[in-house]
Amino acid sequence: MQNNINKNEMDDLRKRLARVPSLVWDVISENDKNSVFELAEQYKLFLDHAKTERAAVSNILDKAIKNGFKNIKDTAGSHKFYKIHRNKCIALAVIGKKPLMSGINIIAAHIDSPRLDIKQNPLYEEVDLAFLKTHYYGGIRKYHWLARPLAIHGKIIKKDGSPIDIQIGETENDPVFTVADLLPHLARKLQEDKKLSEVFEGEKLNVLIGSMPINKDKADDRFKLNILKYLNEKYGIVEEDFTSAEIEIVPAGKARDIGLDRSLIGAYGQDDRICAFAALESILALSETEKTAVAFFFDKEEIGSEGNTGAKSRFLEEFIAELIDATGTKDTGNALRKTLMNSVAISADVNGALDPDYQDVHEKRNAARLGYGVCITKFTGSGGKSGSSDASAEYVGMIRRIFNENNVVWQTGELGKVDQGGGGTIAKFLAVYGMEIIDCGTAILSMHSPFEISSKADLFMTYKAYKAFFEADRNEKLYL
Ligand code: MN
Ligand code: MN
Repeated sequence: MQNNINKNEMDDLRKRLARVPSLVWDVISENDKNSVFELAEQYKLFLDHAKTERAAVSNILDKAIKNGFKNIKDTAGSHKFYKIHRNKCIALAVIGKKPLMSGINIIAAHIDSPRLDIKQNPLYEEVDLAFLKTHYYGGIRKYHWLARPLAIHGKIIKKDGSPIDIQIGETENDPVFTVADLLPHLARKLQEDKKLSEVFEGEKLNVLIGSMPINKDKADDRFKLNILKYLNEKYGIVEEDFTSAEIEIVPAGKARDIGLDRSLIGAYGQDDRICAFAALESILALSETEKTAVAFFFDKEEIGSEGNTGAKSRFLEEFIAELIDATGTKDTGNALRKTLMNSVAISADVNGALDPDYQDVHEKRNAARLGYGVCITKFTGSGGKSGSSDASAEYVGMIRRIFNENNVVWQTGELGKVDQGGGGTIAKFLAVYGMEIIDCGTAILSMHSPFEISSKADLFMTYKAYKAFFEADRNEKLYL
């Protein structure tokens, strides 16, 4: 074996044999670079208008209708359908030329994000200030929610059953809300020797909502009463209406460009609205496909996909069964089982990008990096892949071929080094049907913070990847 080779031969060997990850900026054309920035502008608008799962559903619905999608109930003369589930989940489908039973191409993202939820009996006053009690939703670092402007988004069902939508804190003239933090001068003794998990208490995440009493008589509820009076005059609601309400506290403000070169985006809720947006745009861009393409936008991923709007619910089956009905197949039960079994799917969710200041929590050879394209995550889970849906070599091979053939810049990423922690996605809840599924999405820095960071280049590659996946009609036999 020849071991003494010159530099050129070394270069040649490296090129032929080694995998060298590509930075998107190094490899895309000027034309594509323009597309990167154009898509990012659309994405920022989506982030601004889809800060809750309900808002995301109505935004997705608007775009779908504008692009010719019809309610699945009205099946005549259409091949593009949508279905909304309890205002918090939505699915879109483009019917392909091949029968559904040959399998469909599914991309499933989630549209809920970590936040503070208002409790059912929230309003109180303390030291002449009025507050709302909260219970946090999803995995947050509690200190992120202190001393920052917050907005209120919610749905309230009144006594007579009529709904009210509220949104306060997102426009420039709106007031905002906040959770007060302890001043450093007095925090030392109380907090500095404690463990982080004990320093910030969930029960202290109370949202400041006012400080003016209703009158000068010293009643012990006059601050609270003033808030109730305002809410009643403005929205016609009474205190009991909080019990039938879902009010979410989210960071106030819009998505922003980060960096002098404007190459990054900073915003709340990019987990997982970046993948939801890419899935949406890619299905909207389809005209005719061989396989049927379906995009799901689920709720409740951040609390384990539980409940009737999470990926564990039967919404997926319901929608696919309705598609089977709509395409005129008899014996829906059998067809549904076969369709699901023969399908291929992407669990479209974000991965944590290599953190420059905490590189030790990652295993660098297998960590996703900002700017290196869409991230394929073969498995998730923690402590020995527990709780993961581990995609097969055969299926990863197919995904890789689709991406390579369509010039998608991709990387692989594992969430943290072995036994460092971990996390899950909805992949395993779709895997139960026997379909192929793999996690594939965008890498995010500051994940689960109120100001998550993504790369515009990665967003573009995520979109390209999803579009190529939807358009793919691969007939190769992966298994015996
Ligand atoms: Mn996610
Ligand atoms: Mn998450």
